[in-house]
Amino acid sequence: MASGPPKKVAIIGAGLAGLGLALALHARSIPCTIYELRLPSKVTTGALMLSPNALGVLDSLGVYERIRNKGYNFENIAFKNDKEETTDLYPLGNEKLYGYKALRIYRQVLLTELRTMVQERDIQVIYEKKFSRVLQESADEGVTFQFEDGSTAQADLLVGTDGIHSTVRQKVSPSTTPLYSGMLAITCVIPTSKLRFPADKDYSTLPVAIHGKAGTFIFAPQDVDGSEVLAGSQKRYPEQSKAEWSRLFGAKDELLALLSANRADWPDIVQSGLENVPKHTLSIWPFYIVPKLAAWRSEKQRVIILGDAAHAIPPTAGQGASQAFEDAFTLAFLLSRLSPQIQLAAALEFWQNYRQERVDQVIALTQQLNNMRLPAAEREKLGKGEIWRSGDEAQLEWLYVPRIEERLATWVEEAEKREGGEDGTVQKSLIS
Ligand SMILES: Cc1cc2nc3c(=O)[nH]c(=O)nc-3n(C[C@H](O)[C@H](O)[C@H](O)COP(=O)(O)OP(=O)(O)OC[C@H]3O[C@@H](n4cnc5c(N)ncnc54)[C@H](O)[C@@H]3O)c2cc1C
Repeated sequence: MASGPPKKVAIIGAGLAGLGLALALHARSIPCTIYELRLPSKVTTGALMLSPNALGVLDSLGVYERIRNKGYNFENIAFKNDKEETTDLYPLGNEKLYGYKALRIYRQVLLTELRTMVQERDIQVIYEKKFSRVLQESADEGVTFQFEDGSTAQADLLVGTDGIHSTVRQKVSPSTTPLYSGMLAITCVIPTSKLRFPADKDYSTLPVAIHGKAGTFIFAPQDVDGSEVLAGSQKRYPEQSKAEWSRLFGAKDELLALLSANRADWPDIVQSGLENVPKHTLSIWPFYIVPKLAAWRSEKQRVIILGDAAHAIPPTAGQGASQAFEDAFTLAFLLSRLSPQIQLAAALEFWQNYRQERVDQVIALTQQLNNMRLPAAEREKLGKGEIWRSGDEAQLEWLYVPRIEERLATWVEEAEKREGGEDGTVQKSLIS
């Protein structure tokens, strides 16, 4: 692959980023194999929200048509104060402005659809293969790597899409470990019919985030007809060991008590939710992040990380999976355009800078949204720009309509002009 697209890409991890990358590479005729530590029969729980930027990527890969009717389609989340007055609407999608409504879909449904599409394209997925380390990496030979069972494999490029606790990241940024943000979400799933919607308040917009004295409580529909909601709140909570988090997850009475703290301070609709929590649905989500990395690729450019492995971000803007899909789509695009003029090192440098810029913008937005969820007394101490407020119609166009292909195609065109003469001869190698 010295001067063209790779002929063999190994992907570590068949999560959202890995499966998305496999489909994006296949669409550009780049062969790949996925290695996944779990069996496909392992069921994941919970739902996630996909916004127009992710849905645009999934549309171009043929996924959107297959999932759009398998989740809850909506446009805004309503923010309410403790008197249940709607103070603002935050768009998570908008068909007219951004091309798509937001889609809240069970993770398992999305993974199943992506896996089916990967299978239909004869992309090889090898399950129960736990990546352990890179044995050798060179510009000529590519990468040789090893699994925990001792077996080895080889590829032109190795891409780690192995999540927040990535093992592949050790080759790229050995000292990085995920950091706990200090916040813990406690969630449960409640039938919508059990909620007492007050007749004199407007609850026509769901999801809703009620910013009360005790923090923020959220109700978010998550199945096709909106008949059940994810309900929950986030709190400051000290970091625990893996074993302690696991114990807390199993301690349903303790979780219910945590979720019900300051119950009297919440409006009646929250109280109706708390009265009807099916205990087995109680779950926790400690927010860990991956600190900003200097590099998303190894020095020799043959090992790359993306998705949560490269930039796990706090969840408030609902962009974790969406950014992972953008990573995958953009990487596949650039790899398909490698040529004597477009060398791997230059393409990856542009890619990382472009992607990091997007992620940084999302983190800044997330901070503004997080601040809205603080208890009232803490919120009041913050300056104006530190809290999100709705503005003009195009306020979130930068996020939801990223015009990815346009941006990448422009870079490719300019790089080709810079590096090639009028007749296309290479004037200078981009790899030193
Ligand atoms: C409760 C919860 C709710 C969320 N809600 C949203 C939301 O509403 N919207 C949103 O955009 N994002 C949401 N996110 C974030 C989103 O889930 C992540 O950003 C996204 O899953 C990242 O995808 P990924 O493929 O990078 O990592 P993962 O989904 O973690 O996938 C990693 C894969 O790699 C495999 N793997 C790990 N190590 C190895 C190894 N050594 N060898 C082989 N395979 C390995 C794992 O088994 C897994 O299949 C949520 C996250 C959580 C926890």
